[in-house]
Amino acid sequence: MTTDDVVIVGAGAAGSTLALLLARHGIPSTIVDSRNDTRLHPAAHVVNARSLEIWTQASPTLVGALAAMTPPIDTVNVIRWCTDVRGAPLGEIDLLSQPDRLVEVRSHSPHLISHIGQHLLMPALWEALDAEALVDFRRGWRADHVDGSLLLQPPGAPPTAVVPRYVVAADGANSILRERAGIAMRGPILANMGSVFFHAAGLYPDGHDRPLLSWIYHPDFSGVMIAHADDDYVLMTPYLHPAQPVARRSEQFWNDVLPKVIGAADYRIRSTGTWTMTSQLAETFRRGPLLLIGDAAHRFPHTGGFGLNSGVQDAHNLAWKLAAILRHGASDSLLDTYETERRPVVTRFAEQSTTNHFNLDVVTAPLGITNRSLHRATELMAMPWLARIPDRVMATVADRLTHAQTSRTRRLSKDDARGRRLRRHMADAIPTQEEHFVASGLEFGYAYDGPLIDTSTEGPCLDGDVAHYHPTTHPGARLPHTPVCDGDGNVRPVHDLVEAHGLTLFTAAVVDWSAIVEDAALAVPITVVALTAPVPDDHVHVIESMQVGERGAVLVRPDGHVVWRNRGGKDSSNQLRRFLESAWAGVYPAGGDLEPARAANSTSALD
Ligand SMILES: Cc1cc2nc3c(=O)[nH]c(=O)nc-3n(C[C@H](O)[C@H](O)[C@H](O)COP(=O)(O)OP(=O)(O)OC[C@H]3O[C@@H](n4cnc5c(N)ncnc54)[C@H](O)[C@@H]3O)c2cc1C
Repeated sequence: MTTDDVVIVGAGAAGSTLALLLARHGIPSTIVDSRNDTRLHPAAHVVNARSLEIWTQASPTLVGALAAMTPPIDTVNVIRWCTDVRGAPLGEIDLLSQPDRLVEVRSHSPHLISHIGQHLLMPALWEALDAEALVDFRRGWRADHVDGSLLLQPPGAPPTAVVPRYVVAADGANSILRERAGIAMRGPILANMGSVFFHAAGLYPDGHDRPLLSWIYHPDFSGVMIAHADDDYVLMTPYLHPAQPVARRSEQFWNDVLPKVIGAADYRIRSTGTWTMTSQLAETFRRGPLLLIGDAAHRFPHTGGFGLNSGVQDAHNLAWKLAAILRHGASDSLLDTYETERRPVVTRFAEQSTTNHFNLDVVTAPLGITNRSLHRATELMAMPWLARIPDRVMATVADRLTHAQTSRTRRLSKDDARGRRLRRHMADAIPTQEEHFVASGLEFGYAYDGPLIDTSTEGPCLDGDVAHYHPTTHPGARLPHTPVCDGDGNVRPVHDLVEAHGLTLFTAAVVDWSAIVEDAALAVPITVVALTAPVPDDHVHVIESMQVGERGAVLVRPDGHVVWRNRGGKDSSNQLRRFLESAWAGVYPAGGDLEPARAANSTSALD
């Protein structure tokens, strides 16, 4: 096995996570990124507890670094609608207003959803890559794919052609590898967005709430502001044509807008940027040795915070499968289950983020500003025949349309009966937005279906609630979190006891199930783990959380998803054997290592 067995293109969150997870499985990889340093301009900030669980497996030191960056939850709990940053809010959602809900959410994972700007997160991920002996991380290397070869170009040197066994396209929304493979993205473009990243130390005086998100409806501006750590902020607004000032003369545009929106506070622009809001999935996630993960495979509206988190989940789904192939002799067809399992999940994320985006209209429709009309205008302005009209003219038309929409917000500042009615309508609609910001059901409740999951007795794990997660060991679901004792008597999250290789069988009846597994003499490696509660009083809770009683067992694969469960004790041994022989015999045929791992830079054909 060489580092060129797996080459990952793109060291964003998806690619970096994959490289780190592969290393945990003993698989060396090469990962290239055309950038020398991580991007300053932040995008993501919502980091799901599930991503933190996955990164705990990938690199415990990384999770330590991220914990140090995590802001206290009572500083990231307010979502505000307002006319300007300093004015009285039109209304708010306080995510901490239901203490019971917080207790419930905390019970789902050892981690809590966090807010870490991507500009802070990515340097930590890159540091973890640099520290990993099995990862050959090449900064400043640009990749392309031509005539079946992957071209890797170091800075200031000609490209080298390599033909790795697997190429992972983690090269983001505008993936060149996806384009070269002729894989189209399907789904609508919803809006074009311009954004500014700025520092403003005195924006919120001490003692005032600093909202995590502010949806702003100012007479000269409408958009959303994200509060980041260290008095940094991102302010975003839609635009209709690339010749508009926000895209073409962005710094000047934002210097004009910022004083209006943030008042007299001093500010310093750190960077500006544009991005396209889409709800799109690649028509396939795999073409031969090319596998698409993260934004290269799917891109969603930012509303919901699913983009980066789903890329981390893609990597998690793929890593143990690549390890099973490269290290344990599994058939290459195992990789087909990547798309079978992930596509329905990311389809749901795309739908939910799009729903969240349009659901914001419930608040703003009385104002006459909606994301639906923005979508229609965006599609209209992108009609091919309009390309014949000079940019100057298009920019003027687009500016007028934008201004006509934005100026409707003037009605909000009027202190007359109409203004008051409008403000009340908007305030009344704000509580309808809660699902947008608390989606524990999707964060933990995404489940897989396909040939590796036993659906013969209970059927597939159905999509649950968006807002509420209902822990379940239904095959396909993520193993629910519960603290247990390991073999040395240490209290640990049950996920920590899931083996990276083979399947892990959790049961309270260890003696019986150890005998069953031994008698069955299966090729699939199975580690039997006792469900031991941290203290005797918790025993019932631990057993109930696994939903299989005192005699049953839950079988879990390396990414923590349940593949089989049974309450029947010894009587179920035939059923277990049949399932494993039909579904899993091809995954671990050799039952052991084909070849030990080596340090990444020892064998690369790129040297
Ligand atoms: C405003 C905004 C807010 C968002 N908020 C959230 C949020 O709160 N939570 C969330 O989960 N998601 C959020 N997202 C989405 C999130 O930012 C993306 O989903 C995420 O960055 C995708 O990660 P990735 O690793 O797939 O791709 P990227 O982060 O785009 O990384 C791709 C990498 O590939 C490299 N690359 C590209 N081409 C090449 C090449 N040819 N050769 C070598 N390297 C190459 C790039 O330099 C880059 O480092 C948000 C997005 C936006 C725009």
